[in-house]
Amino acid sequence: MTNELMVVKLGGAAGIGLETLCDDVAQLRRDKRRLVLVHGGSDETNRLAEQLGHPSRFVTSISGHTSRVTDRRTLEIFMMATAAINRRLVEQLQARGVNAVGLSGLDGRVIQARRKEAIRVIENGRQRIIRDDWTGTPERINAGLLTTLLDLDLVPVLAPLGISESGEALNLDGDRAAAVIAAGLKAETLILLTNVPGLLRNFPDQTSLIHHIPQGEIESFAQFAEGRMRKKVLGAAEALRAGVRRVVIGDARQPAPVSAAMDGQGTVIG
Ligand code: ADP
Repeated sequence: MTNELMVVKLGGAAGIGLETLCDDVAQLRRDKRRLVLVHGGSDETNRLAEQLGHPSRFVTSISGHTSRVTDRRTLEIFMMATAAINRRLVEQLQARGVNAVGLSGLDGRVIQARRKEAIRVIENGRQRIIRDDWTGTPERINAGLLTTLLDLDLVPVLAPLGISESGEALNLDGDRAAAVIAAGLKAETLILLTNVPGLLRNFPDQTSLIHHIPQGEIESFAQFAEGRMRKKVLGAAEALRAGVRRVVIGDARQPAPVSAAMDGQGTVIG
């Protein structure tokens, strides 16, 4: 099916494979495939925050997730870091004849999110509540705007910022942002590219790749994932529940990473 829509999320550490990824996207566009790209920004944010003298602070929530504390200054740094990645991607794609359009989830309310008003964290063994935090959970998208861009033969490139009900900018997890985009656009495939071959049964043993997870069994496979890989598996579950046909967690470090994932290389869920 040539008109199939795919949403591709590139991992924060995927910068290494930017050129091969853009070559692959250019080839897919020549084959008339429709794509939306979503990128992360955590590594670049960490670097820039250090350089600007406001290093990121990480906390562990009571449910065990580690996340960045996004105070207002950190949000500004996150905006700068993701804008730079976004522009770089658009430049690389334009240089290959792909008419890419860079947006953040703020623009045109593309990604609407709910602000996490208070985060319960454990610090030095004690519970604490953080309120000055600008992180959100993506909930809905402006599908009309993205569909219009796709119909104009453009390739939207989205930075993981969301907009709250009252118009505040929020830092989003890129994998969950991509999941909401895929769900809202009813994409056939969501591809989450990362720096491992997929979900590994015995991380970091690269030969223990899990090739396929049936939709009904995601919960039992989530136990193998730790840290940020767990967010990918949870994002996959959300997308499938919302009607996306399949999710592939694939390796960004190989040649033609999107095409390889489309061919089923990686962990195919669904
Ligand atoms: P990206 O920035 O590319 O999106 P993340 O760093 O968010 O990637 O998530 C991928 C990381 O998840 C891997 O590099 C690895 O360190 C970690 N991980 C934890 N558990 C697993 C697992 N079972 N299989 C593969 N990776 C895992």
